[in-house]
Amino acid sequence: MSLYANWLLKGRLLASSQPQSLDDLFEARKIGVSVVLSFETHPEERDWCKKLGLRFKEVALNDFEPPSLSKIEEAVNFLHRYLLTQKRSVMMHCYAGLGRTGTISACFIGALFGLSAEDAIRAVRSIRPGSIEEDQEESVKTYLEKFRGGKANPELRGFCSQCGAPILKPMDLCIHCINVKSQRDTVKIIQSFNFDSALNICTGR
Ligand SMILES: [Zn+2]
Repeated sequence: MSLYANWLLKGRLLASSQPQSLDDLFEARKIGVSVVLSFETHPEERDWCKKLGLRFKEVALNDFEPPSLSKIEEAVNFLHRYLLTQKRSVMMHCYAGLGRTGTISACFIGALFGLSAEDAIRAVRSIRPGSIEEDQEESVKTYLEKFRGGKANPELRGFCSQCGAPILKPMDLCIHCINVKSQRDTVKIIQSFNFDSALNICTGR
């Protein structure tokens, strides 16, 4: 596979560079990807996805520019629907898969687990070095502040059942409360996070 890709959430959320051929997407499908979220405009990708039976969505973001709040909300909403509600595996990418993809990754993971912007950015960079341009950091901060205050993706905001921190529905615990329980560091928890058992716990409550 000619993709430069890393699982941000094991088996569920893949951050990747631009697929250059149908073969690249075929390889992604082989490792479980069934949904593609693109921040780049590529003339053939929609057709490739169609041929392979992959759900495709484009949220075009300009390169080397902080994404707007409404675009971040659109991307987070899409990731929430396919990852948490439909429990599918999603690949997201821009061109190199670092700037725009990293920014959306930090916003999503930050909201999902109730991380501060600094911790979300640090975690994404540690999983995928080179992620997030410096001038994109501010968008992560702004988005997460607004999410916590109920002003971005308000319909997706839930609360940690232990400490009340804002997190994405239907998650049960924020990263700090998971951390206390499992005694593992943030990056390890994120990378090996088992959505299905976590979500089953939530719905079983
Ligand atoms: Zn908590």
